[in-house]
Amino acid sequence: MKPFFTHSLIIFLLSLSYCYQAKGVGVSSLSQATQIVNRQQPMMINPLINQFAEISFANKFISTEDLKIIDDLGIILNPAEQYLVLILHANNVVSDKYNPTQHLSAIKWLDEAKKLEGSIGESQLNSPLFSQLYLMMSKNYVAINEYELAFVERKYYQEKADADWNYEKDNAVKILNNKYKTDRKIKENELLQNQTKLKNLQIKQTEIQHRVLVRNFFIFICIAILCLLLMVRQIKIRHVLKHLAQTDSLTGLLNRGALFEKGIALTEQAFERKNEMTAFLLDLDHFKQVNENYGHNIGDKVLKTIAILGCETMRSRDIFARLGGEEFVAVLPDANLEEANAIAERLREKICAYDFSECGLTQSITASFGVAALDQVTPKFDAMLNSADEAMYYAKDQGRNKVCSYPVNVR
Ligand code: GH3
Ligand code: MG
Ligand code: MG
Repeated sequence: MKPFFTHSLIIFLLSLSYCYQAKGVGVSSLSQATQIVNRQQPMMINPLINQFAEISFANKFISTEDLKIIDDLGIILNPAEQYLVLILHANNVVSDKYNPTQHLSAIKWLDEAKKLEGSIGESQLNSPLFSQLYLMMSKNYVAINEYELAFVERKYYQEKADADWNYEKDNAVKILNNKYKTDRKIKENELLQNQTKLKNLQIKQTEIQHRVLVRNFFIFICIAILCLLLMVRQIKIRHVLKHLAQTDSLTGLLNRGALFEKGIALTEQAFERKNEMTAFLLDLDHFKQVNENYGHNIGDKVLKTIAILGCETMRSRDIFARLGGEEFVAVLPDANLEEANAIAERLREKICAYDFSECGLTQSITASFGVAALDQVTPKFDAMLNSADEAMYYAKDQGRNKVCSYPVNVR
């Protein structure tokens, strides 16, 4: 009597078998099966046959009834399945009681199974389920006292077990190697990704630094240009201020201050070089009357015209300046008294002959001139001007519209 769970198990395996059959294995008897097999790939085993083979491998007895169930399946068995069924038959014929006939019959079944080895892959044959054939063979030989044959079969069994062990070990190593390689690749990929991220960050940082540098450079250039413009403006303003400070606003001539500044410098230069130098001073005659008769504006126009006439008469190196009021001074470097008198005379004639009607004047204008040379013993600019002034007053005394030189010499 079989236990209840064994029946349940067989029913379950039967249902699995039908599913397996539906996958296209087909129906046929044991003897019909011949297939081309891939020796590397293990062949599929019907779950029922597989279960029976494992029971047999555990040295448990499989009954004839159970084996009939396999036949009843009516499926085409592949060589591997046929191989296992033949092992089951060999197991089935051996009972507990010693009977040499049974063992010989078992050996026959097992020999039949051996013939199928050419159609089954080596790794599958080496698996414990399949290699049990040699163990069974050995046991049966022992049972009939054929120890040498039993030894040989046992040796085969051991070789197959070793081969299977090596195969499993190699497989495990391969799997581990693959896993290691995959893990390493993943780590390397992660490292590369991180490196790429780092590179990108560095590039971004460099770009930002470059932009900041360009911006700072641009700001620096702008500030430099601004400073330059301010400096130029400042220089221009200083220049204009200096010009204004040195210029007489009415006539545009050098004013009194600038006259003395330049006059002193020219005096020193003439003294160092031992050059001659002269100056003359002119004062308009009865100018108060002009203002009174024609107005101050017209008086101003007359003063401007005198400035123009004076500048026209001067040489390029001479200075013609307004001393103040209606008095003008000419400084004449490298000119002796005679040349200075000639220049003063020329200007006097020009003023006297000039038609001032364009200024709104119906009368002529005259001026009195005093000419003086630089004292070579005590060369002072203001002393020279004082001498010229003295000569000019002498010209006034002599009836005006005259050129007198110092010491007094009426012309
Ligand atoms: P003289 O020199 O011949 O003795 O007589 P004058 O009338 O010229 O005498 P004075 O030197 O006393 O007078 C100078 C006048 O010049 C007085 C003033 O009205 C006039 N004057 C001085 N500065 C200016 C000026 O800037 N513009 C005008 N329009 N007149 C001026
Ligand atoms: Mg005067
Ligand atoms: Mg005067």
